[in-house]
Amino acid sequence: MANESGPNSENAHSCGGDCEHCSHAAEERDSEDCRIRRNLAGVRNTIVVLSGKGGVGKSTVAANVAAALARRGRAVGLLDVDLHGPSAVGMFGLEGQALMATEDGGLVPPVAACGVRVVSVGNAVDDPDAAIVWRGPMKLGVIRQFLGQTAWGELDWLVVDAPPGTGDEPLTVCQTVPDPLGAVVVTTPQRIAAADVARSLAFCDQLAFPIVGIVENMSGFVCPHCGKSVDVFPGGAADALSEKFDAPILARIPLDPRVSVSGDSGIPLAALNPDGGPVAAAIEALADALEKEAAARAAGRRAAGAPAGA
Ligand code: ADP
Repeated sequence: MANESGPNSENAHSCGGDCEHCSHAAEERDSEDCRIRRNLAGVRNTIVVLSGKGGVGKSTVAANVAAALARRGRAVGLLDVDLHGPSAVGMFGLEGQALMATEDGGLVPPVAACGVRVVSVGNAVDDPDAAIVWRGPMKLGVIRQFLGQTAWGELDWLVVDAPPGTGDEPLTVCQTVPDPLGAVVVTTPQRIAAADVARSLAFCDQLAFPIVGIVENMSGFVCPHCGKSVDVFPGGAADALSEKFDAPILARIPLDPRVSVSGDSGIPLAALNPDGGPVAAAIEALADALEKEAAARAAGRRAAGAPAGA
């Protein structure tokens, strides 16, 4: 865990868990925002995984990058607040594991076999197959409750699987997560996907929410027999978006039936890293890019003379 950006290093969360000494003044001490900051004070790097619409593989990318980081020995949490399509419970094999409450009302995340601590709306409801029918304020309250009450402990990485689109729910996530490393925006290669994903990137720009970069998922299919790549969904969406928003492409993850099989089996492919194939390599590239970004932020803070713990 002793990487450059560990929980006790100088790039740890700016609140430091002690609102007496942070820029968020005393009047905010008892507010919910401050409680969320305090609660996440042990989290060093938070990424929010966004997509313009459902079905592009946002949850798959979130689960796999979390598993890849855990495989490197990092302390990783995954918060699944995709309220209408929570899939983390199944992807991490945590069916039937309800969230436990601590004496002071905290929520204890179950730990998946691959080491990722997972909190999902899917393990907060009695019947995982029931439709989640909540009005807007309730949904936003649940998101804030998860952010403010989950007992994550010290984390190197918190991966937030956000609801798709640019509505109230992703807005609440982006406005509430304190001191994020930024957004990882998932697209597929088709031009038609680019229009939706462009809205997600513009949404980040409007909120001044940092964009770490773009992941192109379902980016070709590498034939297991001849090794040639086939463009199943041609379109070059990631390149067009990267140019338009000046955001780097962090990884291109090909289609591979093992991704969905492993997702269904409760162990993300990246936790298995079966053969170092193209999907595993792409997910490793994504994890590398995130760690590089985190290290750059840490170095920037050191250069700016930020005090330890800031
Ligand atoms: P989203 O979170 O954007 O709604 P999911 O992550 O749930 O999308 O993925 C949708 C479906 O596509 C799932 O069945 C998942 O297993 C499958 N899938 C995602 N990425 C890949 C991939 N690279 N190769 C094969 N199947 C994939």
